[in-house]
Amino acid sequence: MKVCVIGVGYVGLVTGVCLAEVGHNVICVDKEKSKISSLSEGVCPIYEIGLKELIKRNLNEKNITFTSNLTEAIKSQDIIFICVGTPPLPNGKPDLTALDDVSKLIGSCLNGYKIIVNKSTVPIGTAKRVKKIIKENAKEESNKNGSPIFDIVSNPEFLKEGEAVNDAFFPERIVIGSESQKAIEIMKQLYKPIINQDFDYAIKNSKNTRKKIPVIITDSTSSELIKYASNAFLATKISFINEVANICERVGANVVDVTYGMGLDSRIGSKYLKAGIGWGGSCFPKDVRALAFTAEEYGAVASILNAVIQVNNYQRYRIIQKAMDILGIIEDKIIGVLGIAFKPDTDDTREAPSITIINKFLELGAEVKAYDPVIKKCPEEMDDKVIIAKDVYEAVKNADLLILVTEWPEFSDIDFNKVKSEMKRPNIIDGRNMLDKKQLTEIGFNYRGIGI
Ligand code: NAD
Repeated sequence: MKVCVIGVGYVGLVTGVCLAEVGHNVICVDKEKSKISSLSEGVCPIYEIGLKELIKRNLNEKNITFTSNLTEAIKSQDIIFICVGTPPLPNGKPDLTALDDVSKLIGSCLNGYKIIVNKSTVPIGTAKRVKKIIKENAKEESNKNGSPIFDIVSNPEFLKEGEAVNDAFFPERIVIGSESQKAIEIMKQLYKPIINQDFDYAIKNSKNTRKKIPVIITDSTSSELIKYASNAFLATKISFINEVANICERVGANVVDVTYGMGLDSRIGSKYLKAGIGWGGSCFPKDVRALAFTAEEYGAVASILNAVIQVNNYQRYRIIQKAMDILGIIEDKIIGVLGIAFKPDTDDTREAPSITIINKFLELGAEVKAYDPVIKKCPEEMDDKVIIAKDVYEAVKNADLLILVTEWPEFSDIDFNKVKSEMKRPNIIDGRNMLDKKQLTEIGFNYRGIGI
């Protein structure tokens, strides 16, 4: 089938490449020309395991092309995926400027029946908004036989950065929300190889016995809400356990044992039940805020959502409080930070906890040296007084305190005897409860975790 993907960020690029891999003809478009020219040469602009190889293979086999010519790409394809960003405005409402611009262009480019698939995470009612904009910009509303010239589908994306390729090939569910039966049937056809798990990559790489992927067919509004409610629920689980971790610290319990005991209950489950610095990234913060905003807009009370956000903001400041407990005055202290990305296996720093934490220490007059295995320059929102270290040992040199912010797997292999000898004072705050408390204490570290 002929697919156009608009916006080749984390979602669009992975979607386009995976649809090409399962046998579709895909054109990916983006307004950022530099991104398109590197992709055309097989250079992947983001860090995502397995993606680079898939781009190269599908480029060579001519299943995928990259272009900045939006008009031509839309005109030549039948199924148009919108994957542009929907960043938050200061009031929590998502900014739909890119989505509106793309919808106007799609309207003006309609030259035969097309399905417009919204994969971006968008407020409830956006499918109807996109439909209205396309209609306003289309030369005609229907074909000569009276059938619509386009249909809208809401098809939210659930991939996790760091595991995006795997999530796209082996999703836990596919949600298709539309008011058009014709569009639903075409979408089922498009996803058939993934639903049936009978494409080559699945046959070679599936870790599980291959079974059909569940497909949820619903209306567009419910589909949009499935996405928001899913992210809000996951964020709630994390904020809940962080609140429990803080209770653990007061009463002398161990949150790791508490979560293990809770997680074995299949009604609760252990995933997303890990105490730490809290959630960040490009999705949870904006999606929880957006759902709370929608609730208030429609006169529903969002008490849980607002509390979830509050607990998460507080959790970052718990790190500052712990540092103050250890160091007293922060001014002129040297702090080493491990991890800048919002989570491991990604280069994404949007709303990363490292930004709030590092900026606060710099504001308090500390010198901060941060190391991340993938991020090698200061993110835009971070105070550029931060020193980006070339390795762990440079980050900890003469430090009064070391803080682990992102649980990159390679941090398990650090030589902590060497770290101790480099530091001025052996203080560690393990913001992800990742390190071995017993071992570090034996080496002579003053170890503080979260809720342990
Ligand atoms: P991104 O910022 O990485 O990518 C968006 C891309 O769209 C950029 O490359 C940008 O240049 C392009 N773009 C913007 N306006 C354009 C226009 N007018 N024409 C052509 N291209 C344009 O964003 P992302 O992380 O891929 O997220 C996209 C959407 O998917 C968001 O709504 C997000 O909430 C949602 N989502 C993201 C994830 C994730 O983990 N990143 C997961 C699920 C859903």
